[in-house]
Amino acid sequence: MDHFELRNGVLHCEEVPLPEIAAAVGTPVYVYATATMRRHVAVLRAALAPLDDPLIAYAVKANPNGAVLATLAQAGLGADVVSGGEYRRARAAGIPPEAIVFSGVGKTAEEMALALDGGLYQFNLESLAEAEMLSAVAASRGQEAPVGFRINPDVTAGSHAKISTGAAENKFGIAIGEAAEAYARAAALPGLRVRGVAVHIGSQLTSLAPLATAFERVGGLIRTLRSAGHAIEVADLGGGLGVPYDPALPPPPSPDDYGRMVCRIAGGWGVRLVFEPGRLIVANAGVLLTRLIRVKPGARHPFLVVDAAMNDLMRPALYDAWHAIDAVEPRGGRTIANVVGPVCETGDTFATAREMDSVAPGDLLVFRTAGAYAAAMSSTYNSRPLTPEVLVDGDRWVLVRPRQDVATLIAGDRIPPWLGITGS
Ligand SMILES: *Cc1c(COP(=O)(O)O)cnc(C)c1O
Repeated sequence: MDHFELRNGVLHCEEVPLPEIAAAVGTPVYVYATATMRRHVAVLRAALAPLDDPLIAYAVKANPNGAVLATLAQAGLGADVVSGGEYRRARAAGIPPEAIVFSGVGKTAEEMALALDGGLYQFNLESLAEAEMLSAVAASRGQEAPVGFRINPDVTAGSHAKISTGAAENKFGIAIGEAAEAYARAAALPGLRVRGVAVHIGSQLTSLAPLATAFERVGGLIRTLRSAGHAIEVADLGGGLGVPYDPALPPPPSPDDYGRMVCRIAGGWGVRLVFEPGRLIVANAGVLLTRLIRVKPGARHPFLVVDAAMNDLMRPALYDAWHAIDAVEPRGGRTIANVVGPVCETGDTFATAREMDSVAPGDLLVFRTAGAYAAAMSSTYNSRPLTPEVLVDGDRWVLVRPRQDVATLIAGDRIPPWLGITGS
């Protein structure tokens, strides 16, 4: 359920007609529904209710807008961060340090120091070399950093290759076969308190089976580590649960199914469980609102050239991702078309031979399920300013990121004085 619905023939976000936002802010623009985010938090919390005090740490990289983070902070979520920038954004949005997990394969000494100074729940470490660096940083400040190791359980996630992270050949985590040795060496380091295990095998998972396999392996590892004398108090089961993009495909497992599986496998581990959902919380809470610029004839189907492009929504170009495309004020007919942006790349194609609402130049359209890994991945390629973002709550809405202007883009450049160009 996503709170983007037709009312009297006009697509609304909650109580707000989307043409009102397009008229005030222009297009393209991302629009997020507060009600959808709150609903997803409630559904996940209910699914995990049998567990004792789980920590739900929202994966900030899915959508790091401060208004989104503040909404989720108010709903009681923590944060999973993967950079110093995300750590600072989470704190700025009011997420308490004791609810922040720091993940990522390349944390620098500066980022470690930032999080140690500000406080956090746990670092998830991905290598022994990283453990040594963190120990040195923490010990030099007279601290003991709470840590878990991210385990690479060697399972194939069955999602797109670019978002699978738990196979042996991926860069993430410590091979499960080498974990016992890594824990023994890390436990001897002065600046660490080794108390957790973590796993995250990929994103947009549409089956519970690989997750269940990974969790079983983590459970086995916890037993091995405990019998070697390590006090394991935390197990971080990552994120990854898929969301429905294409209504023609079978829906991914529900949060309830996921919760039951987790309780069955991990409910008896005697640890605090941590979850790092990203996409599940925000994907369906957002749309990218765009306007049709013109229709250009094509060899087989016409090209609908919209004012959003791959720099605004990169997922189709990067992952061959499918987004539903709907008219904001449907005219009634259906058509088959290619939907493309203005960027000078063939990859700037949102849909090929798509059966969709008939539209005419000037009409508004939405790309649905664009709340996650969408605005977060945008760039200024082709010197297109970053897309604005709007947050709706009931019948009110507010611009939570203004449209960048081209002057700002140009002002960021520095022309070497020896070129003698003054500009205008
Ligand atoms: C990206 C990521 C997540 C979130 O993944 P989703 O598929 O959005 O739930 C969680 N944990 C880690 C370590 C990640 O890198």
